[in-house]
Amino acid sequence: MRCERWRRVRLVSAFLAAVCVMGAQEPALLVRVYNPARAPAWVLRAAIEEATVLFQRSGVDVRWVHCEPVPERAVGDPCRESADPRAFSIGVTREVPAGVARGALAFSLLNAANRNHGAVFYGRVSDVARRYDPVVSCHQVLGHAMVHEIVHLALGGSDHDDSGLMRGEWRPADFRAMGQRGLRIAEPRLRLLKSELVARGGGAAAIGDIVGRAWLPMTISRSR
Ligand SMILES: [Zn+2]
Repeated sequence: MRCERWRRVRLVSAFLAAVCVMGAQEPALLVRVYNPARAPAWVLRAAIEEATVLFQRSGVDVRWVHCEPVPERAVGDPCRESADPRAFSIGVTREVPAGVARGALAFSLLNAANRNHGAVFYGRVSDVARRYDPVVSCHQVLGHAMVHEIVHLALGGSDHDDSGLMRGEWRPADFRAMGQRGLRIAEPRLRLLKSELVARGGGAAAIGDIVGRAWLPMTISRSR
């Protein structure tokens, strides 16, 4: 599988570089990432790097925290689920719920409480990456699918654009652009997203309040 072939060291350094240049005045959000699919840790990290770069180039500051599913969490734990409108949860799963469109790579729970939960289907993402190998890598598809769902959740709707990352169904040209880090959120929707995040009380400092001083960019315990 192409997912398992990527080099780890290069990705870690690039991810750290992406984190270091976050701005303080930008719209911002926090994403809690769950990995029940047990996607390899380095693939998940590389996907988060892709998503971070994409948000960053769009002028959106994003913080990530890796969460394991546990029954209870202490107050102050950044993985403690809350109704905070600046925080979203994305699961990387293998199960595809009934009713999800055939071929869909991800979905958002827009009717659930807080409207802040989405999932990306790791098996389908891997299949697509294999189909488009070597044009795009598994972690790139995964990262872009995560961003796509986060935008749905932040804007509270399932509508799509005619082009770009928020297209309802990605085409071969979109995967090509994705592989070259050229697939963006179309400008009108990006403007909406940024104003929505600011209205929700985003900003790097505010997001720092959620995750606390001990926050780390990303902690993944499993090695590949
Ligand atoms: Zn969509």
